[in-house]
Amino acid sequence: MSITVVGALLLAPAVGSRALNALPAFLAAADMPPPGVEAADAPLGTPPAASGSDQYRFLEFDGLDQPFVAFDPCRPIHYAVRAEGAPAGGAEMIEEAVGIISEASGLQFINDGETTEAPRSQRPKYQPDRYGERWAPVLIAWSTPADNPDLGGDTIGLGGSSPVGLEGETMVYVTGQVELDGPQMREVLQYPAGWEGARSVVVHELGHVLGLDHVDDPGQLMYAGGNSQTQLADGDRAGLALLGQGECVPEL
Ligand SMILES: [Zn+2]
Repeated sequence: MSITVVGALLLAPAVGSRALNALPAFLAAADMPPPGVEAADAPLGTPPAASGSDQYRFLEFDGLDQPFVAFDPCRPIHYAVRAEGAPAGGAEMIEEAVGIISEASGLQFINDGETTEAPRSQRPKYQPDRYGERWAPVLIAWSTPADNPDLGGDTIGLGGSSPVGLEGETMVYVTGQVELDGPQMREVLQYPAGWEGARSVVVHELGHVLGLDHVDDPGQLMYAGGNSQTQLADGDRAGLALLGQGECVPEL
């Protein structure tokens, strides 16, 4: 039954995918918190061994010459949830999805709880008034097609991050954003196996946040649309394991 359920879903191109033509942002002192907040000397977690599959793709950015962009593994990735408009069980669903993506990447996450921040296409990465002197947490927001027309039609979620860095240094992700179509997720939850289907949307969008792009293989969770996959597959896992091995960047 899960094939029917998830076959009805179309997962949207990432916010990050739409940033393909955007230049990475070099940072000025005013754009960033004091460097090295929570930075440890070594990665906090250990990514699992790569699966050997090559069915994954990293988000690419014009003007950026490095194999991939990832979060700093030496510090935790904070996230905050705009819970308004969430379906029943929404908080648990996000918690489970974050656990799945953390296990597959070795990256460690901290739940900062709820926020009232609204998602934006040009979201500031440093918001000291709201979040203190640190990078803003990843924002996971329940939304509607009325709030964001990009969630119209079959599109049920959007997710991504954009790279930042100091000129001449490795570019990394410091925060990101996920938008979930609350009304459509409620519909999905009505189906048999709806929980797994809905949760897989969150995992897919978090895959974009960590740096995965879509692939052509319908057996992967990062396949762009209409797939029957509700779990991370071997290619997704291979990509996430690599994304857990980015550089530590205490200077940010
Ligand atoms: Zn996608």
